[in-house]
Amino acid sequence: MLPNDLDELYKEVILDHYRNPRNAQRLDDAHVKAHGFNPFCGDEVDLQLRLNGDGAIREVGFQGRGCSISQASASLLTEELKGKTLAQTEALRQAFRRMMMGERLTDEERESLGGLEVLAGVRQFPVRIKCALLVFSALEDGIKEHRGRKR
Ligand code: ZN
Repeated sequence: MLPNDLDELYKEVILDHYRNPRNAQRLDDAHVKAHGFNPFCGDEVDLQLRLNGDGAIREVGFQGRGCSISQASASLLTEELKGKTLAQTEALRQAFRRMMMGERLTDEERESLGGLEVLAGVRQFPVRIKCALLVFSALEDGIKEHRGRKR
């Protein structure tokens, strides 16, 4: 299920998140709801965010099914979101995308990725990059929709 050349330690972290996804509860009346589907391997992710009055993310919910990379990426992301604003979330998404494209990141960007850095090795497997990015594009759509509703 996982590419063979991934670093062993990273592989263990990815499998752990795949088997025990974090923040797996479903949040009712979330402010941001995101859904993503990747037809190439049937990956699916659902994400819910509840925000504080000041716009920071207070709670995260995640459900999904599909390949280990897509599910681990979503689970790892849920651990980085709490306390961030939607703008910071957007910056995180861009940093992650740049990492996947093999671009050089600033120290600040690398730091913002936190645990998501274990997915860096996935960029060697172009077909799996879509899996890793799925939750991020879903979140981008969800945030757009949320901002649209507020206007
Ligand atoms: Zn996949």
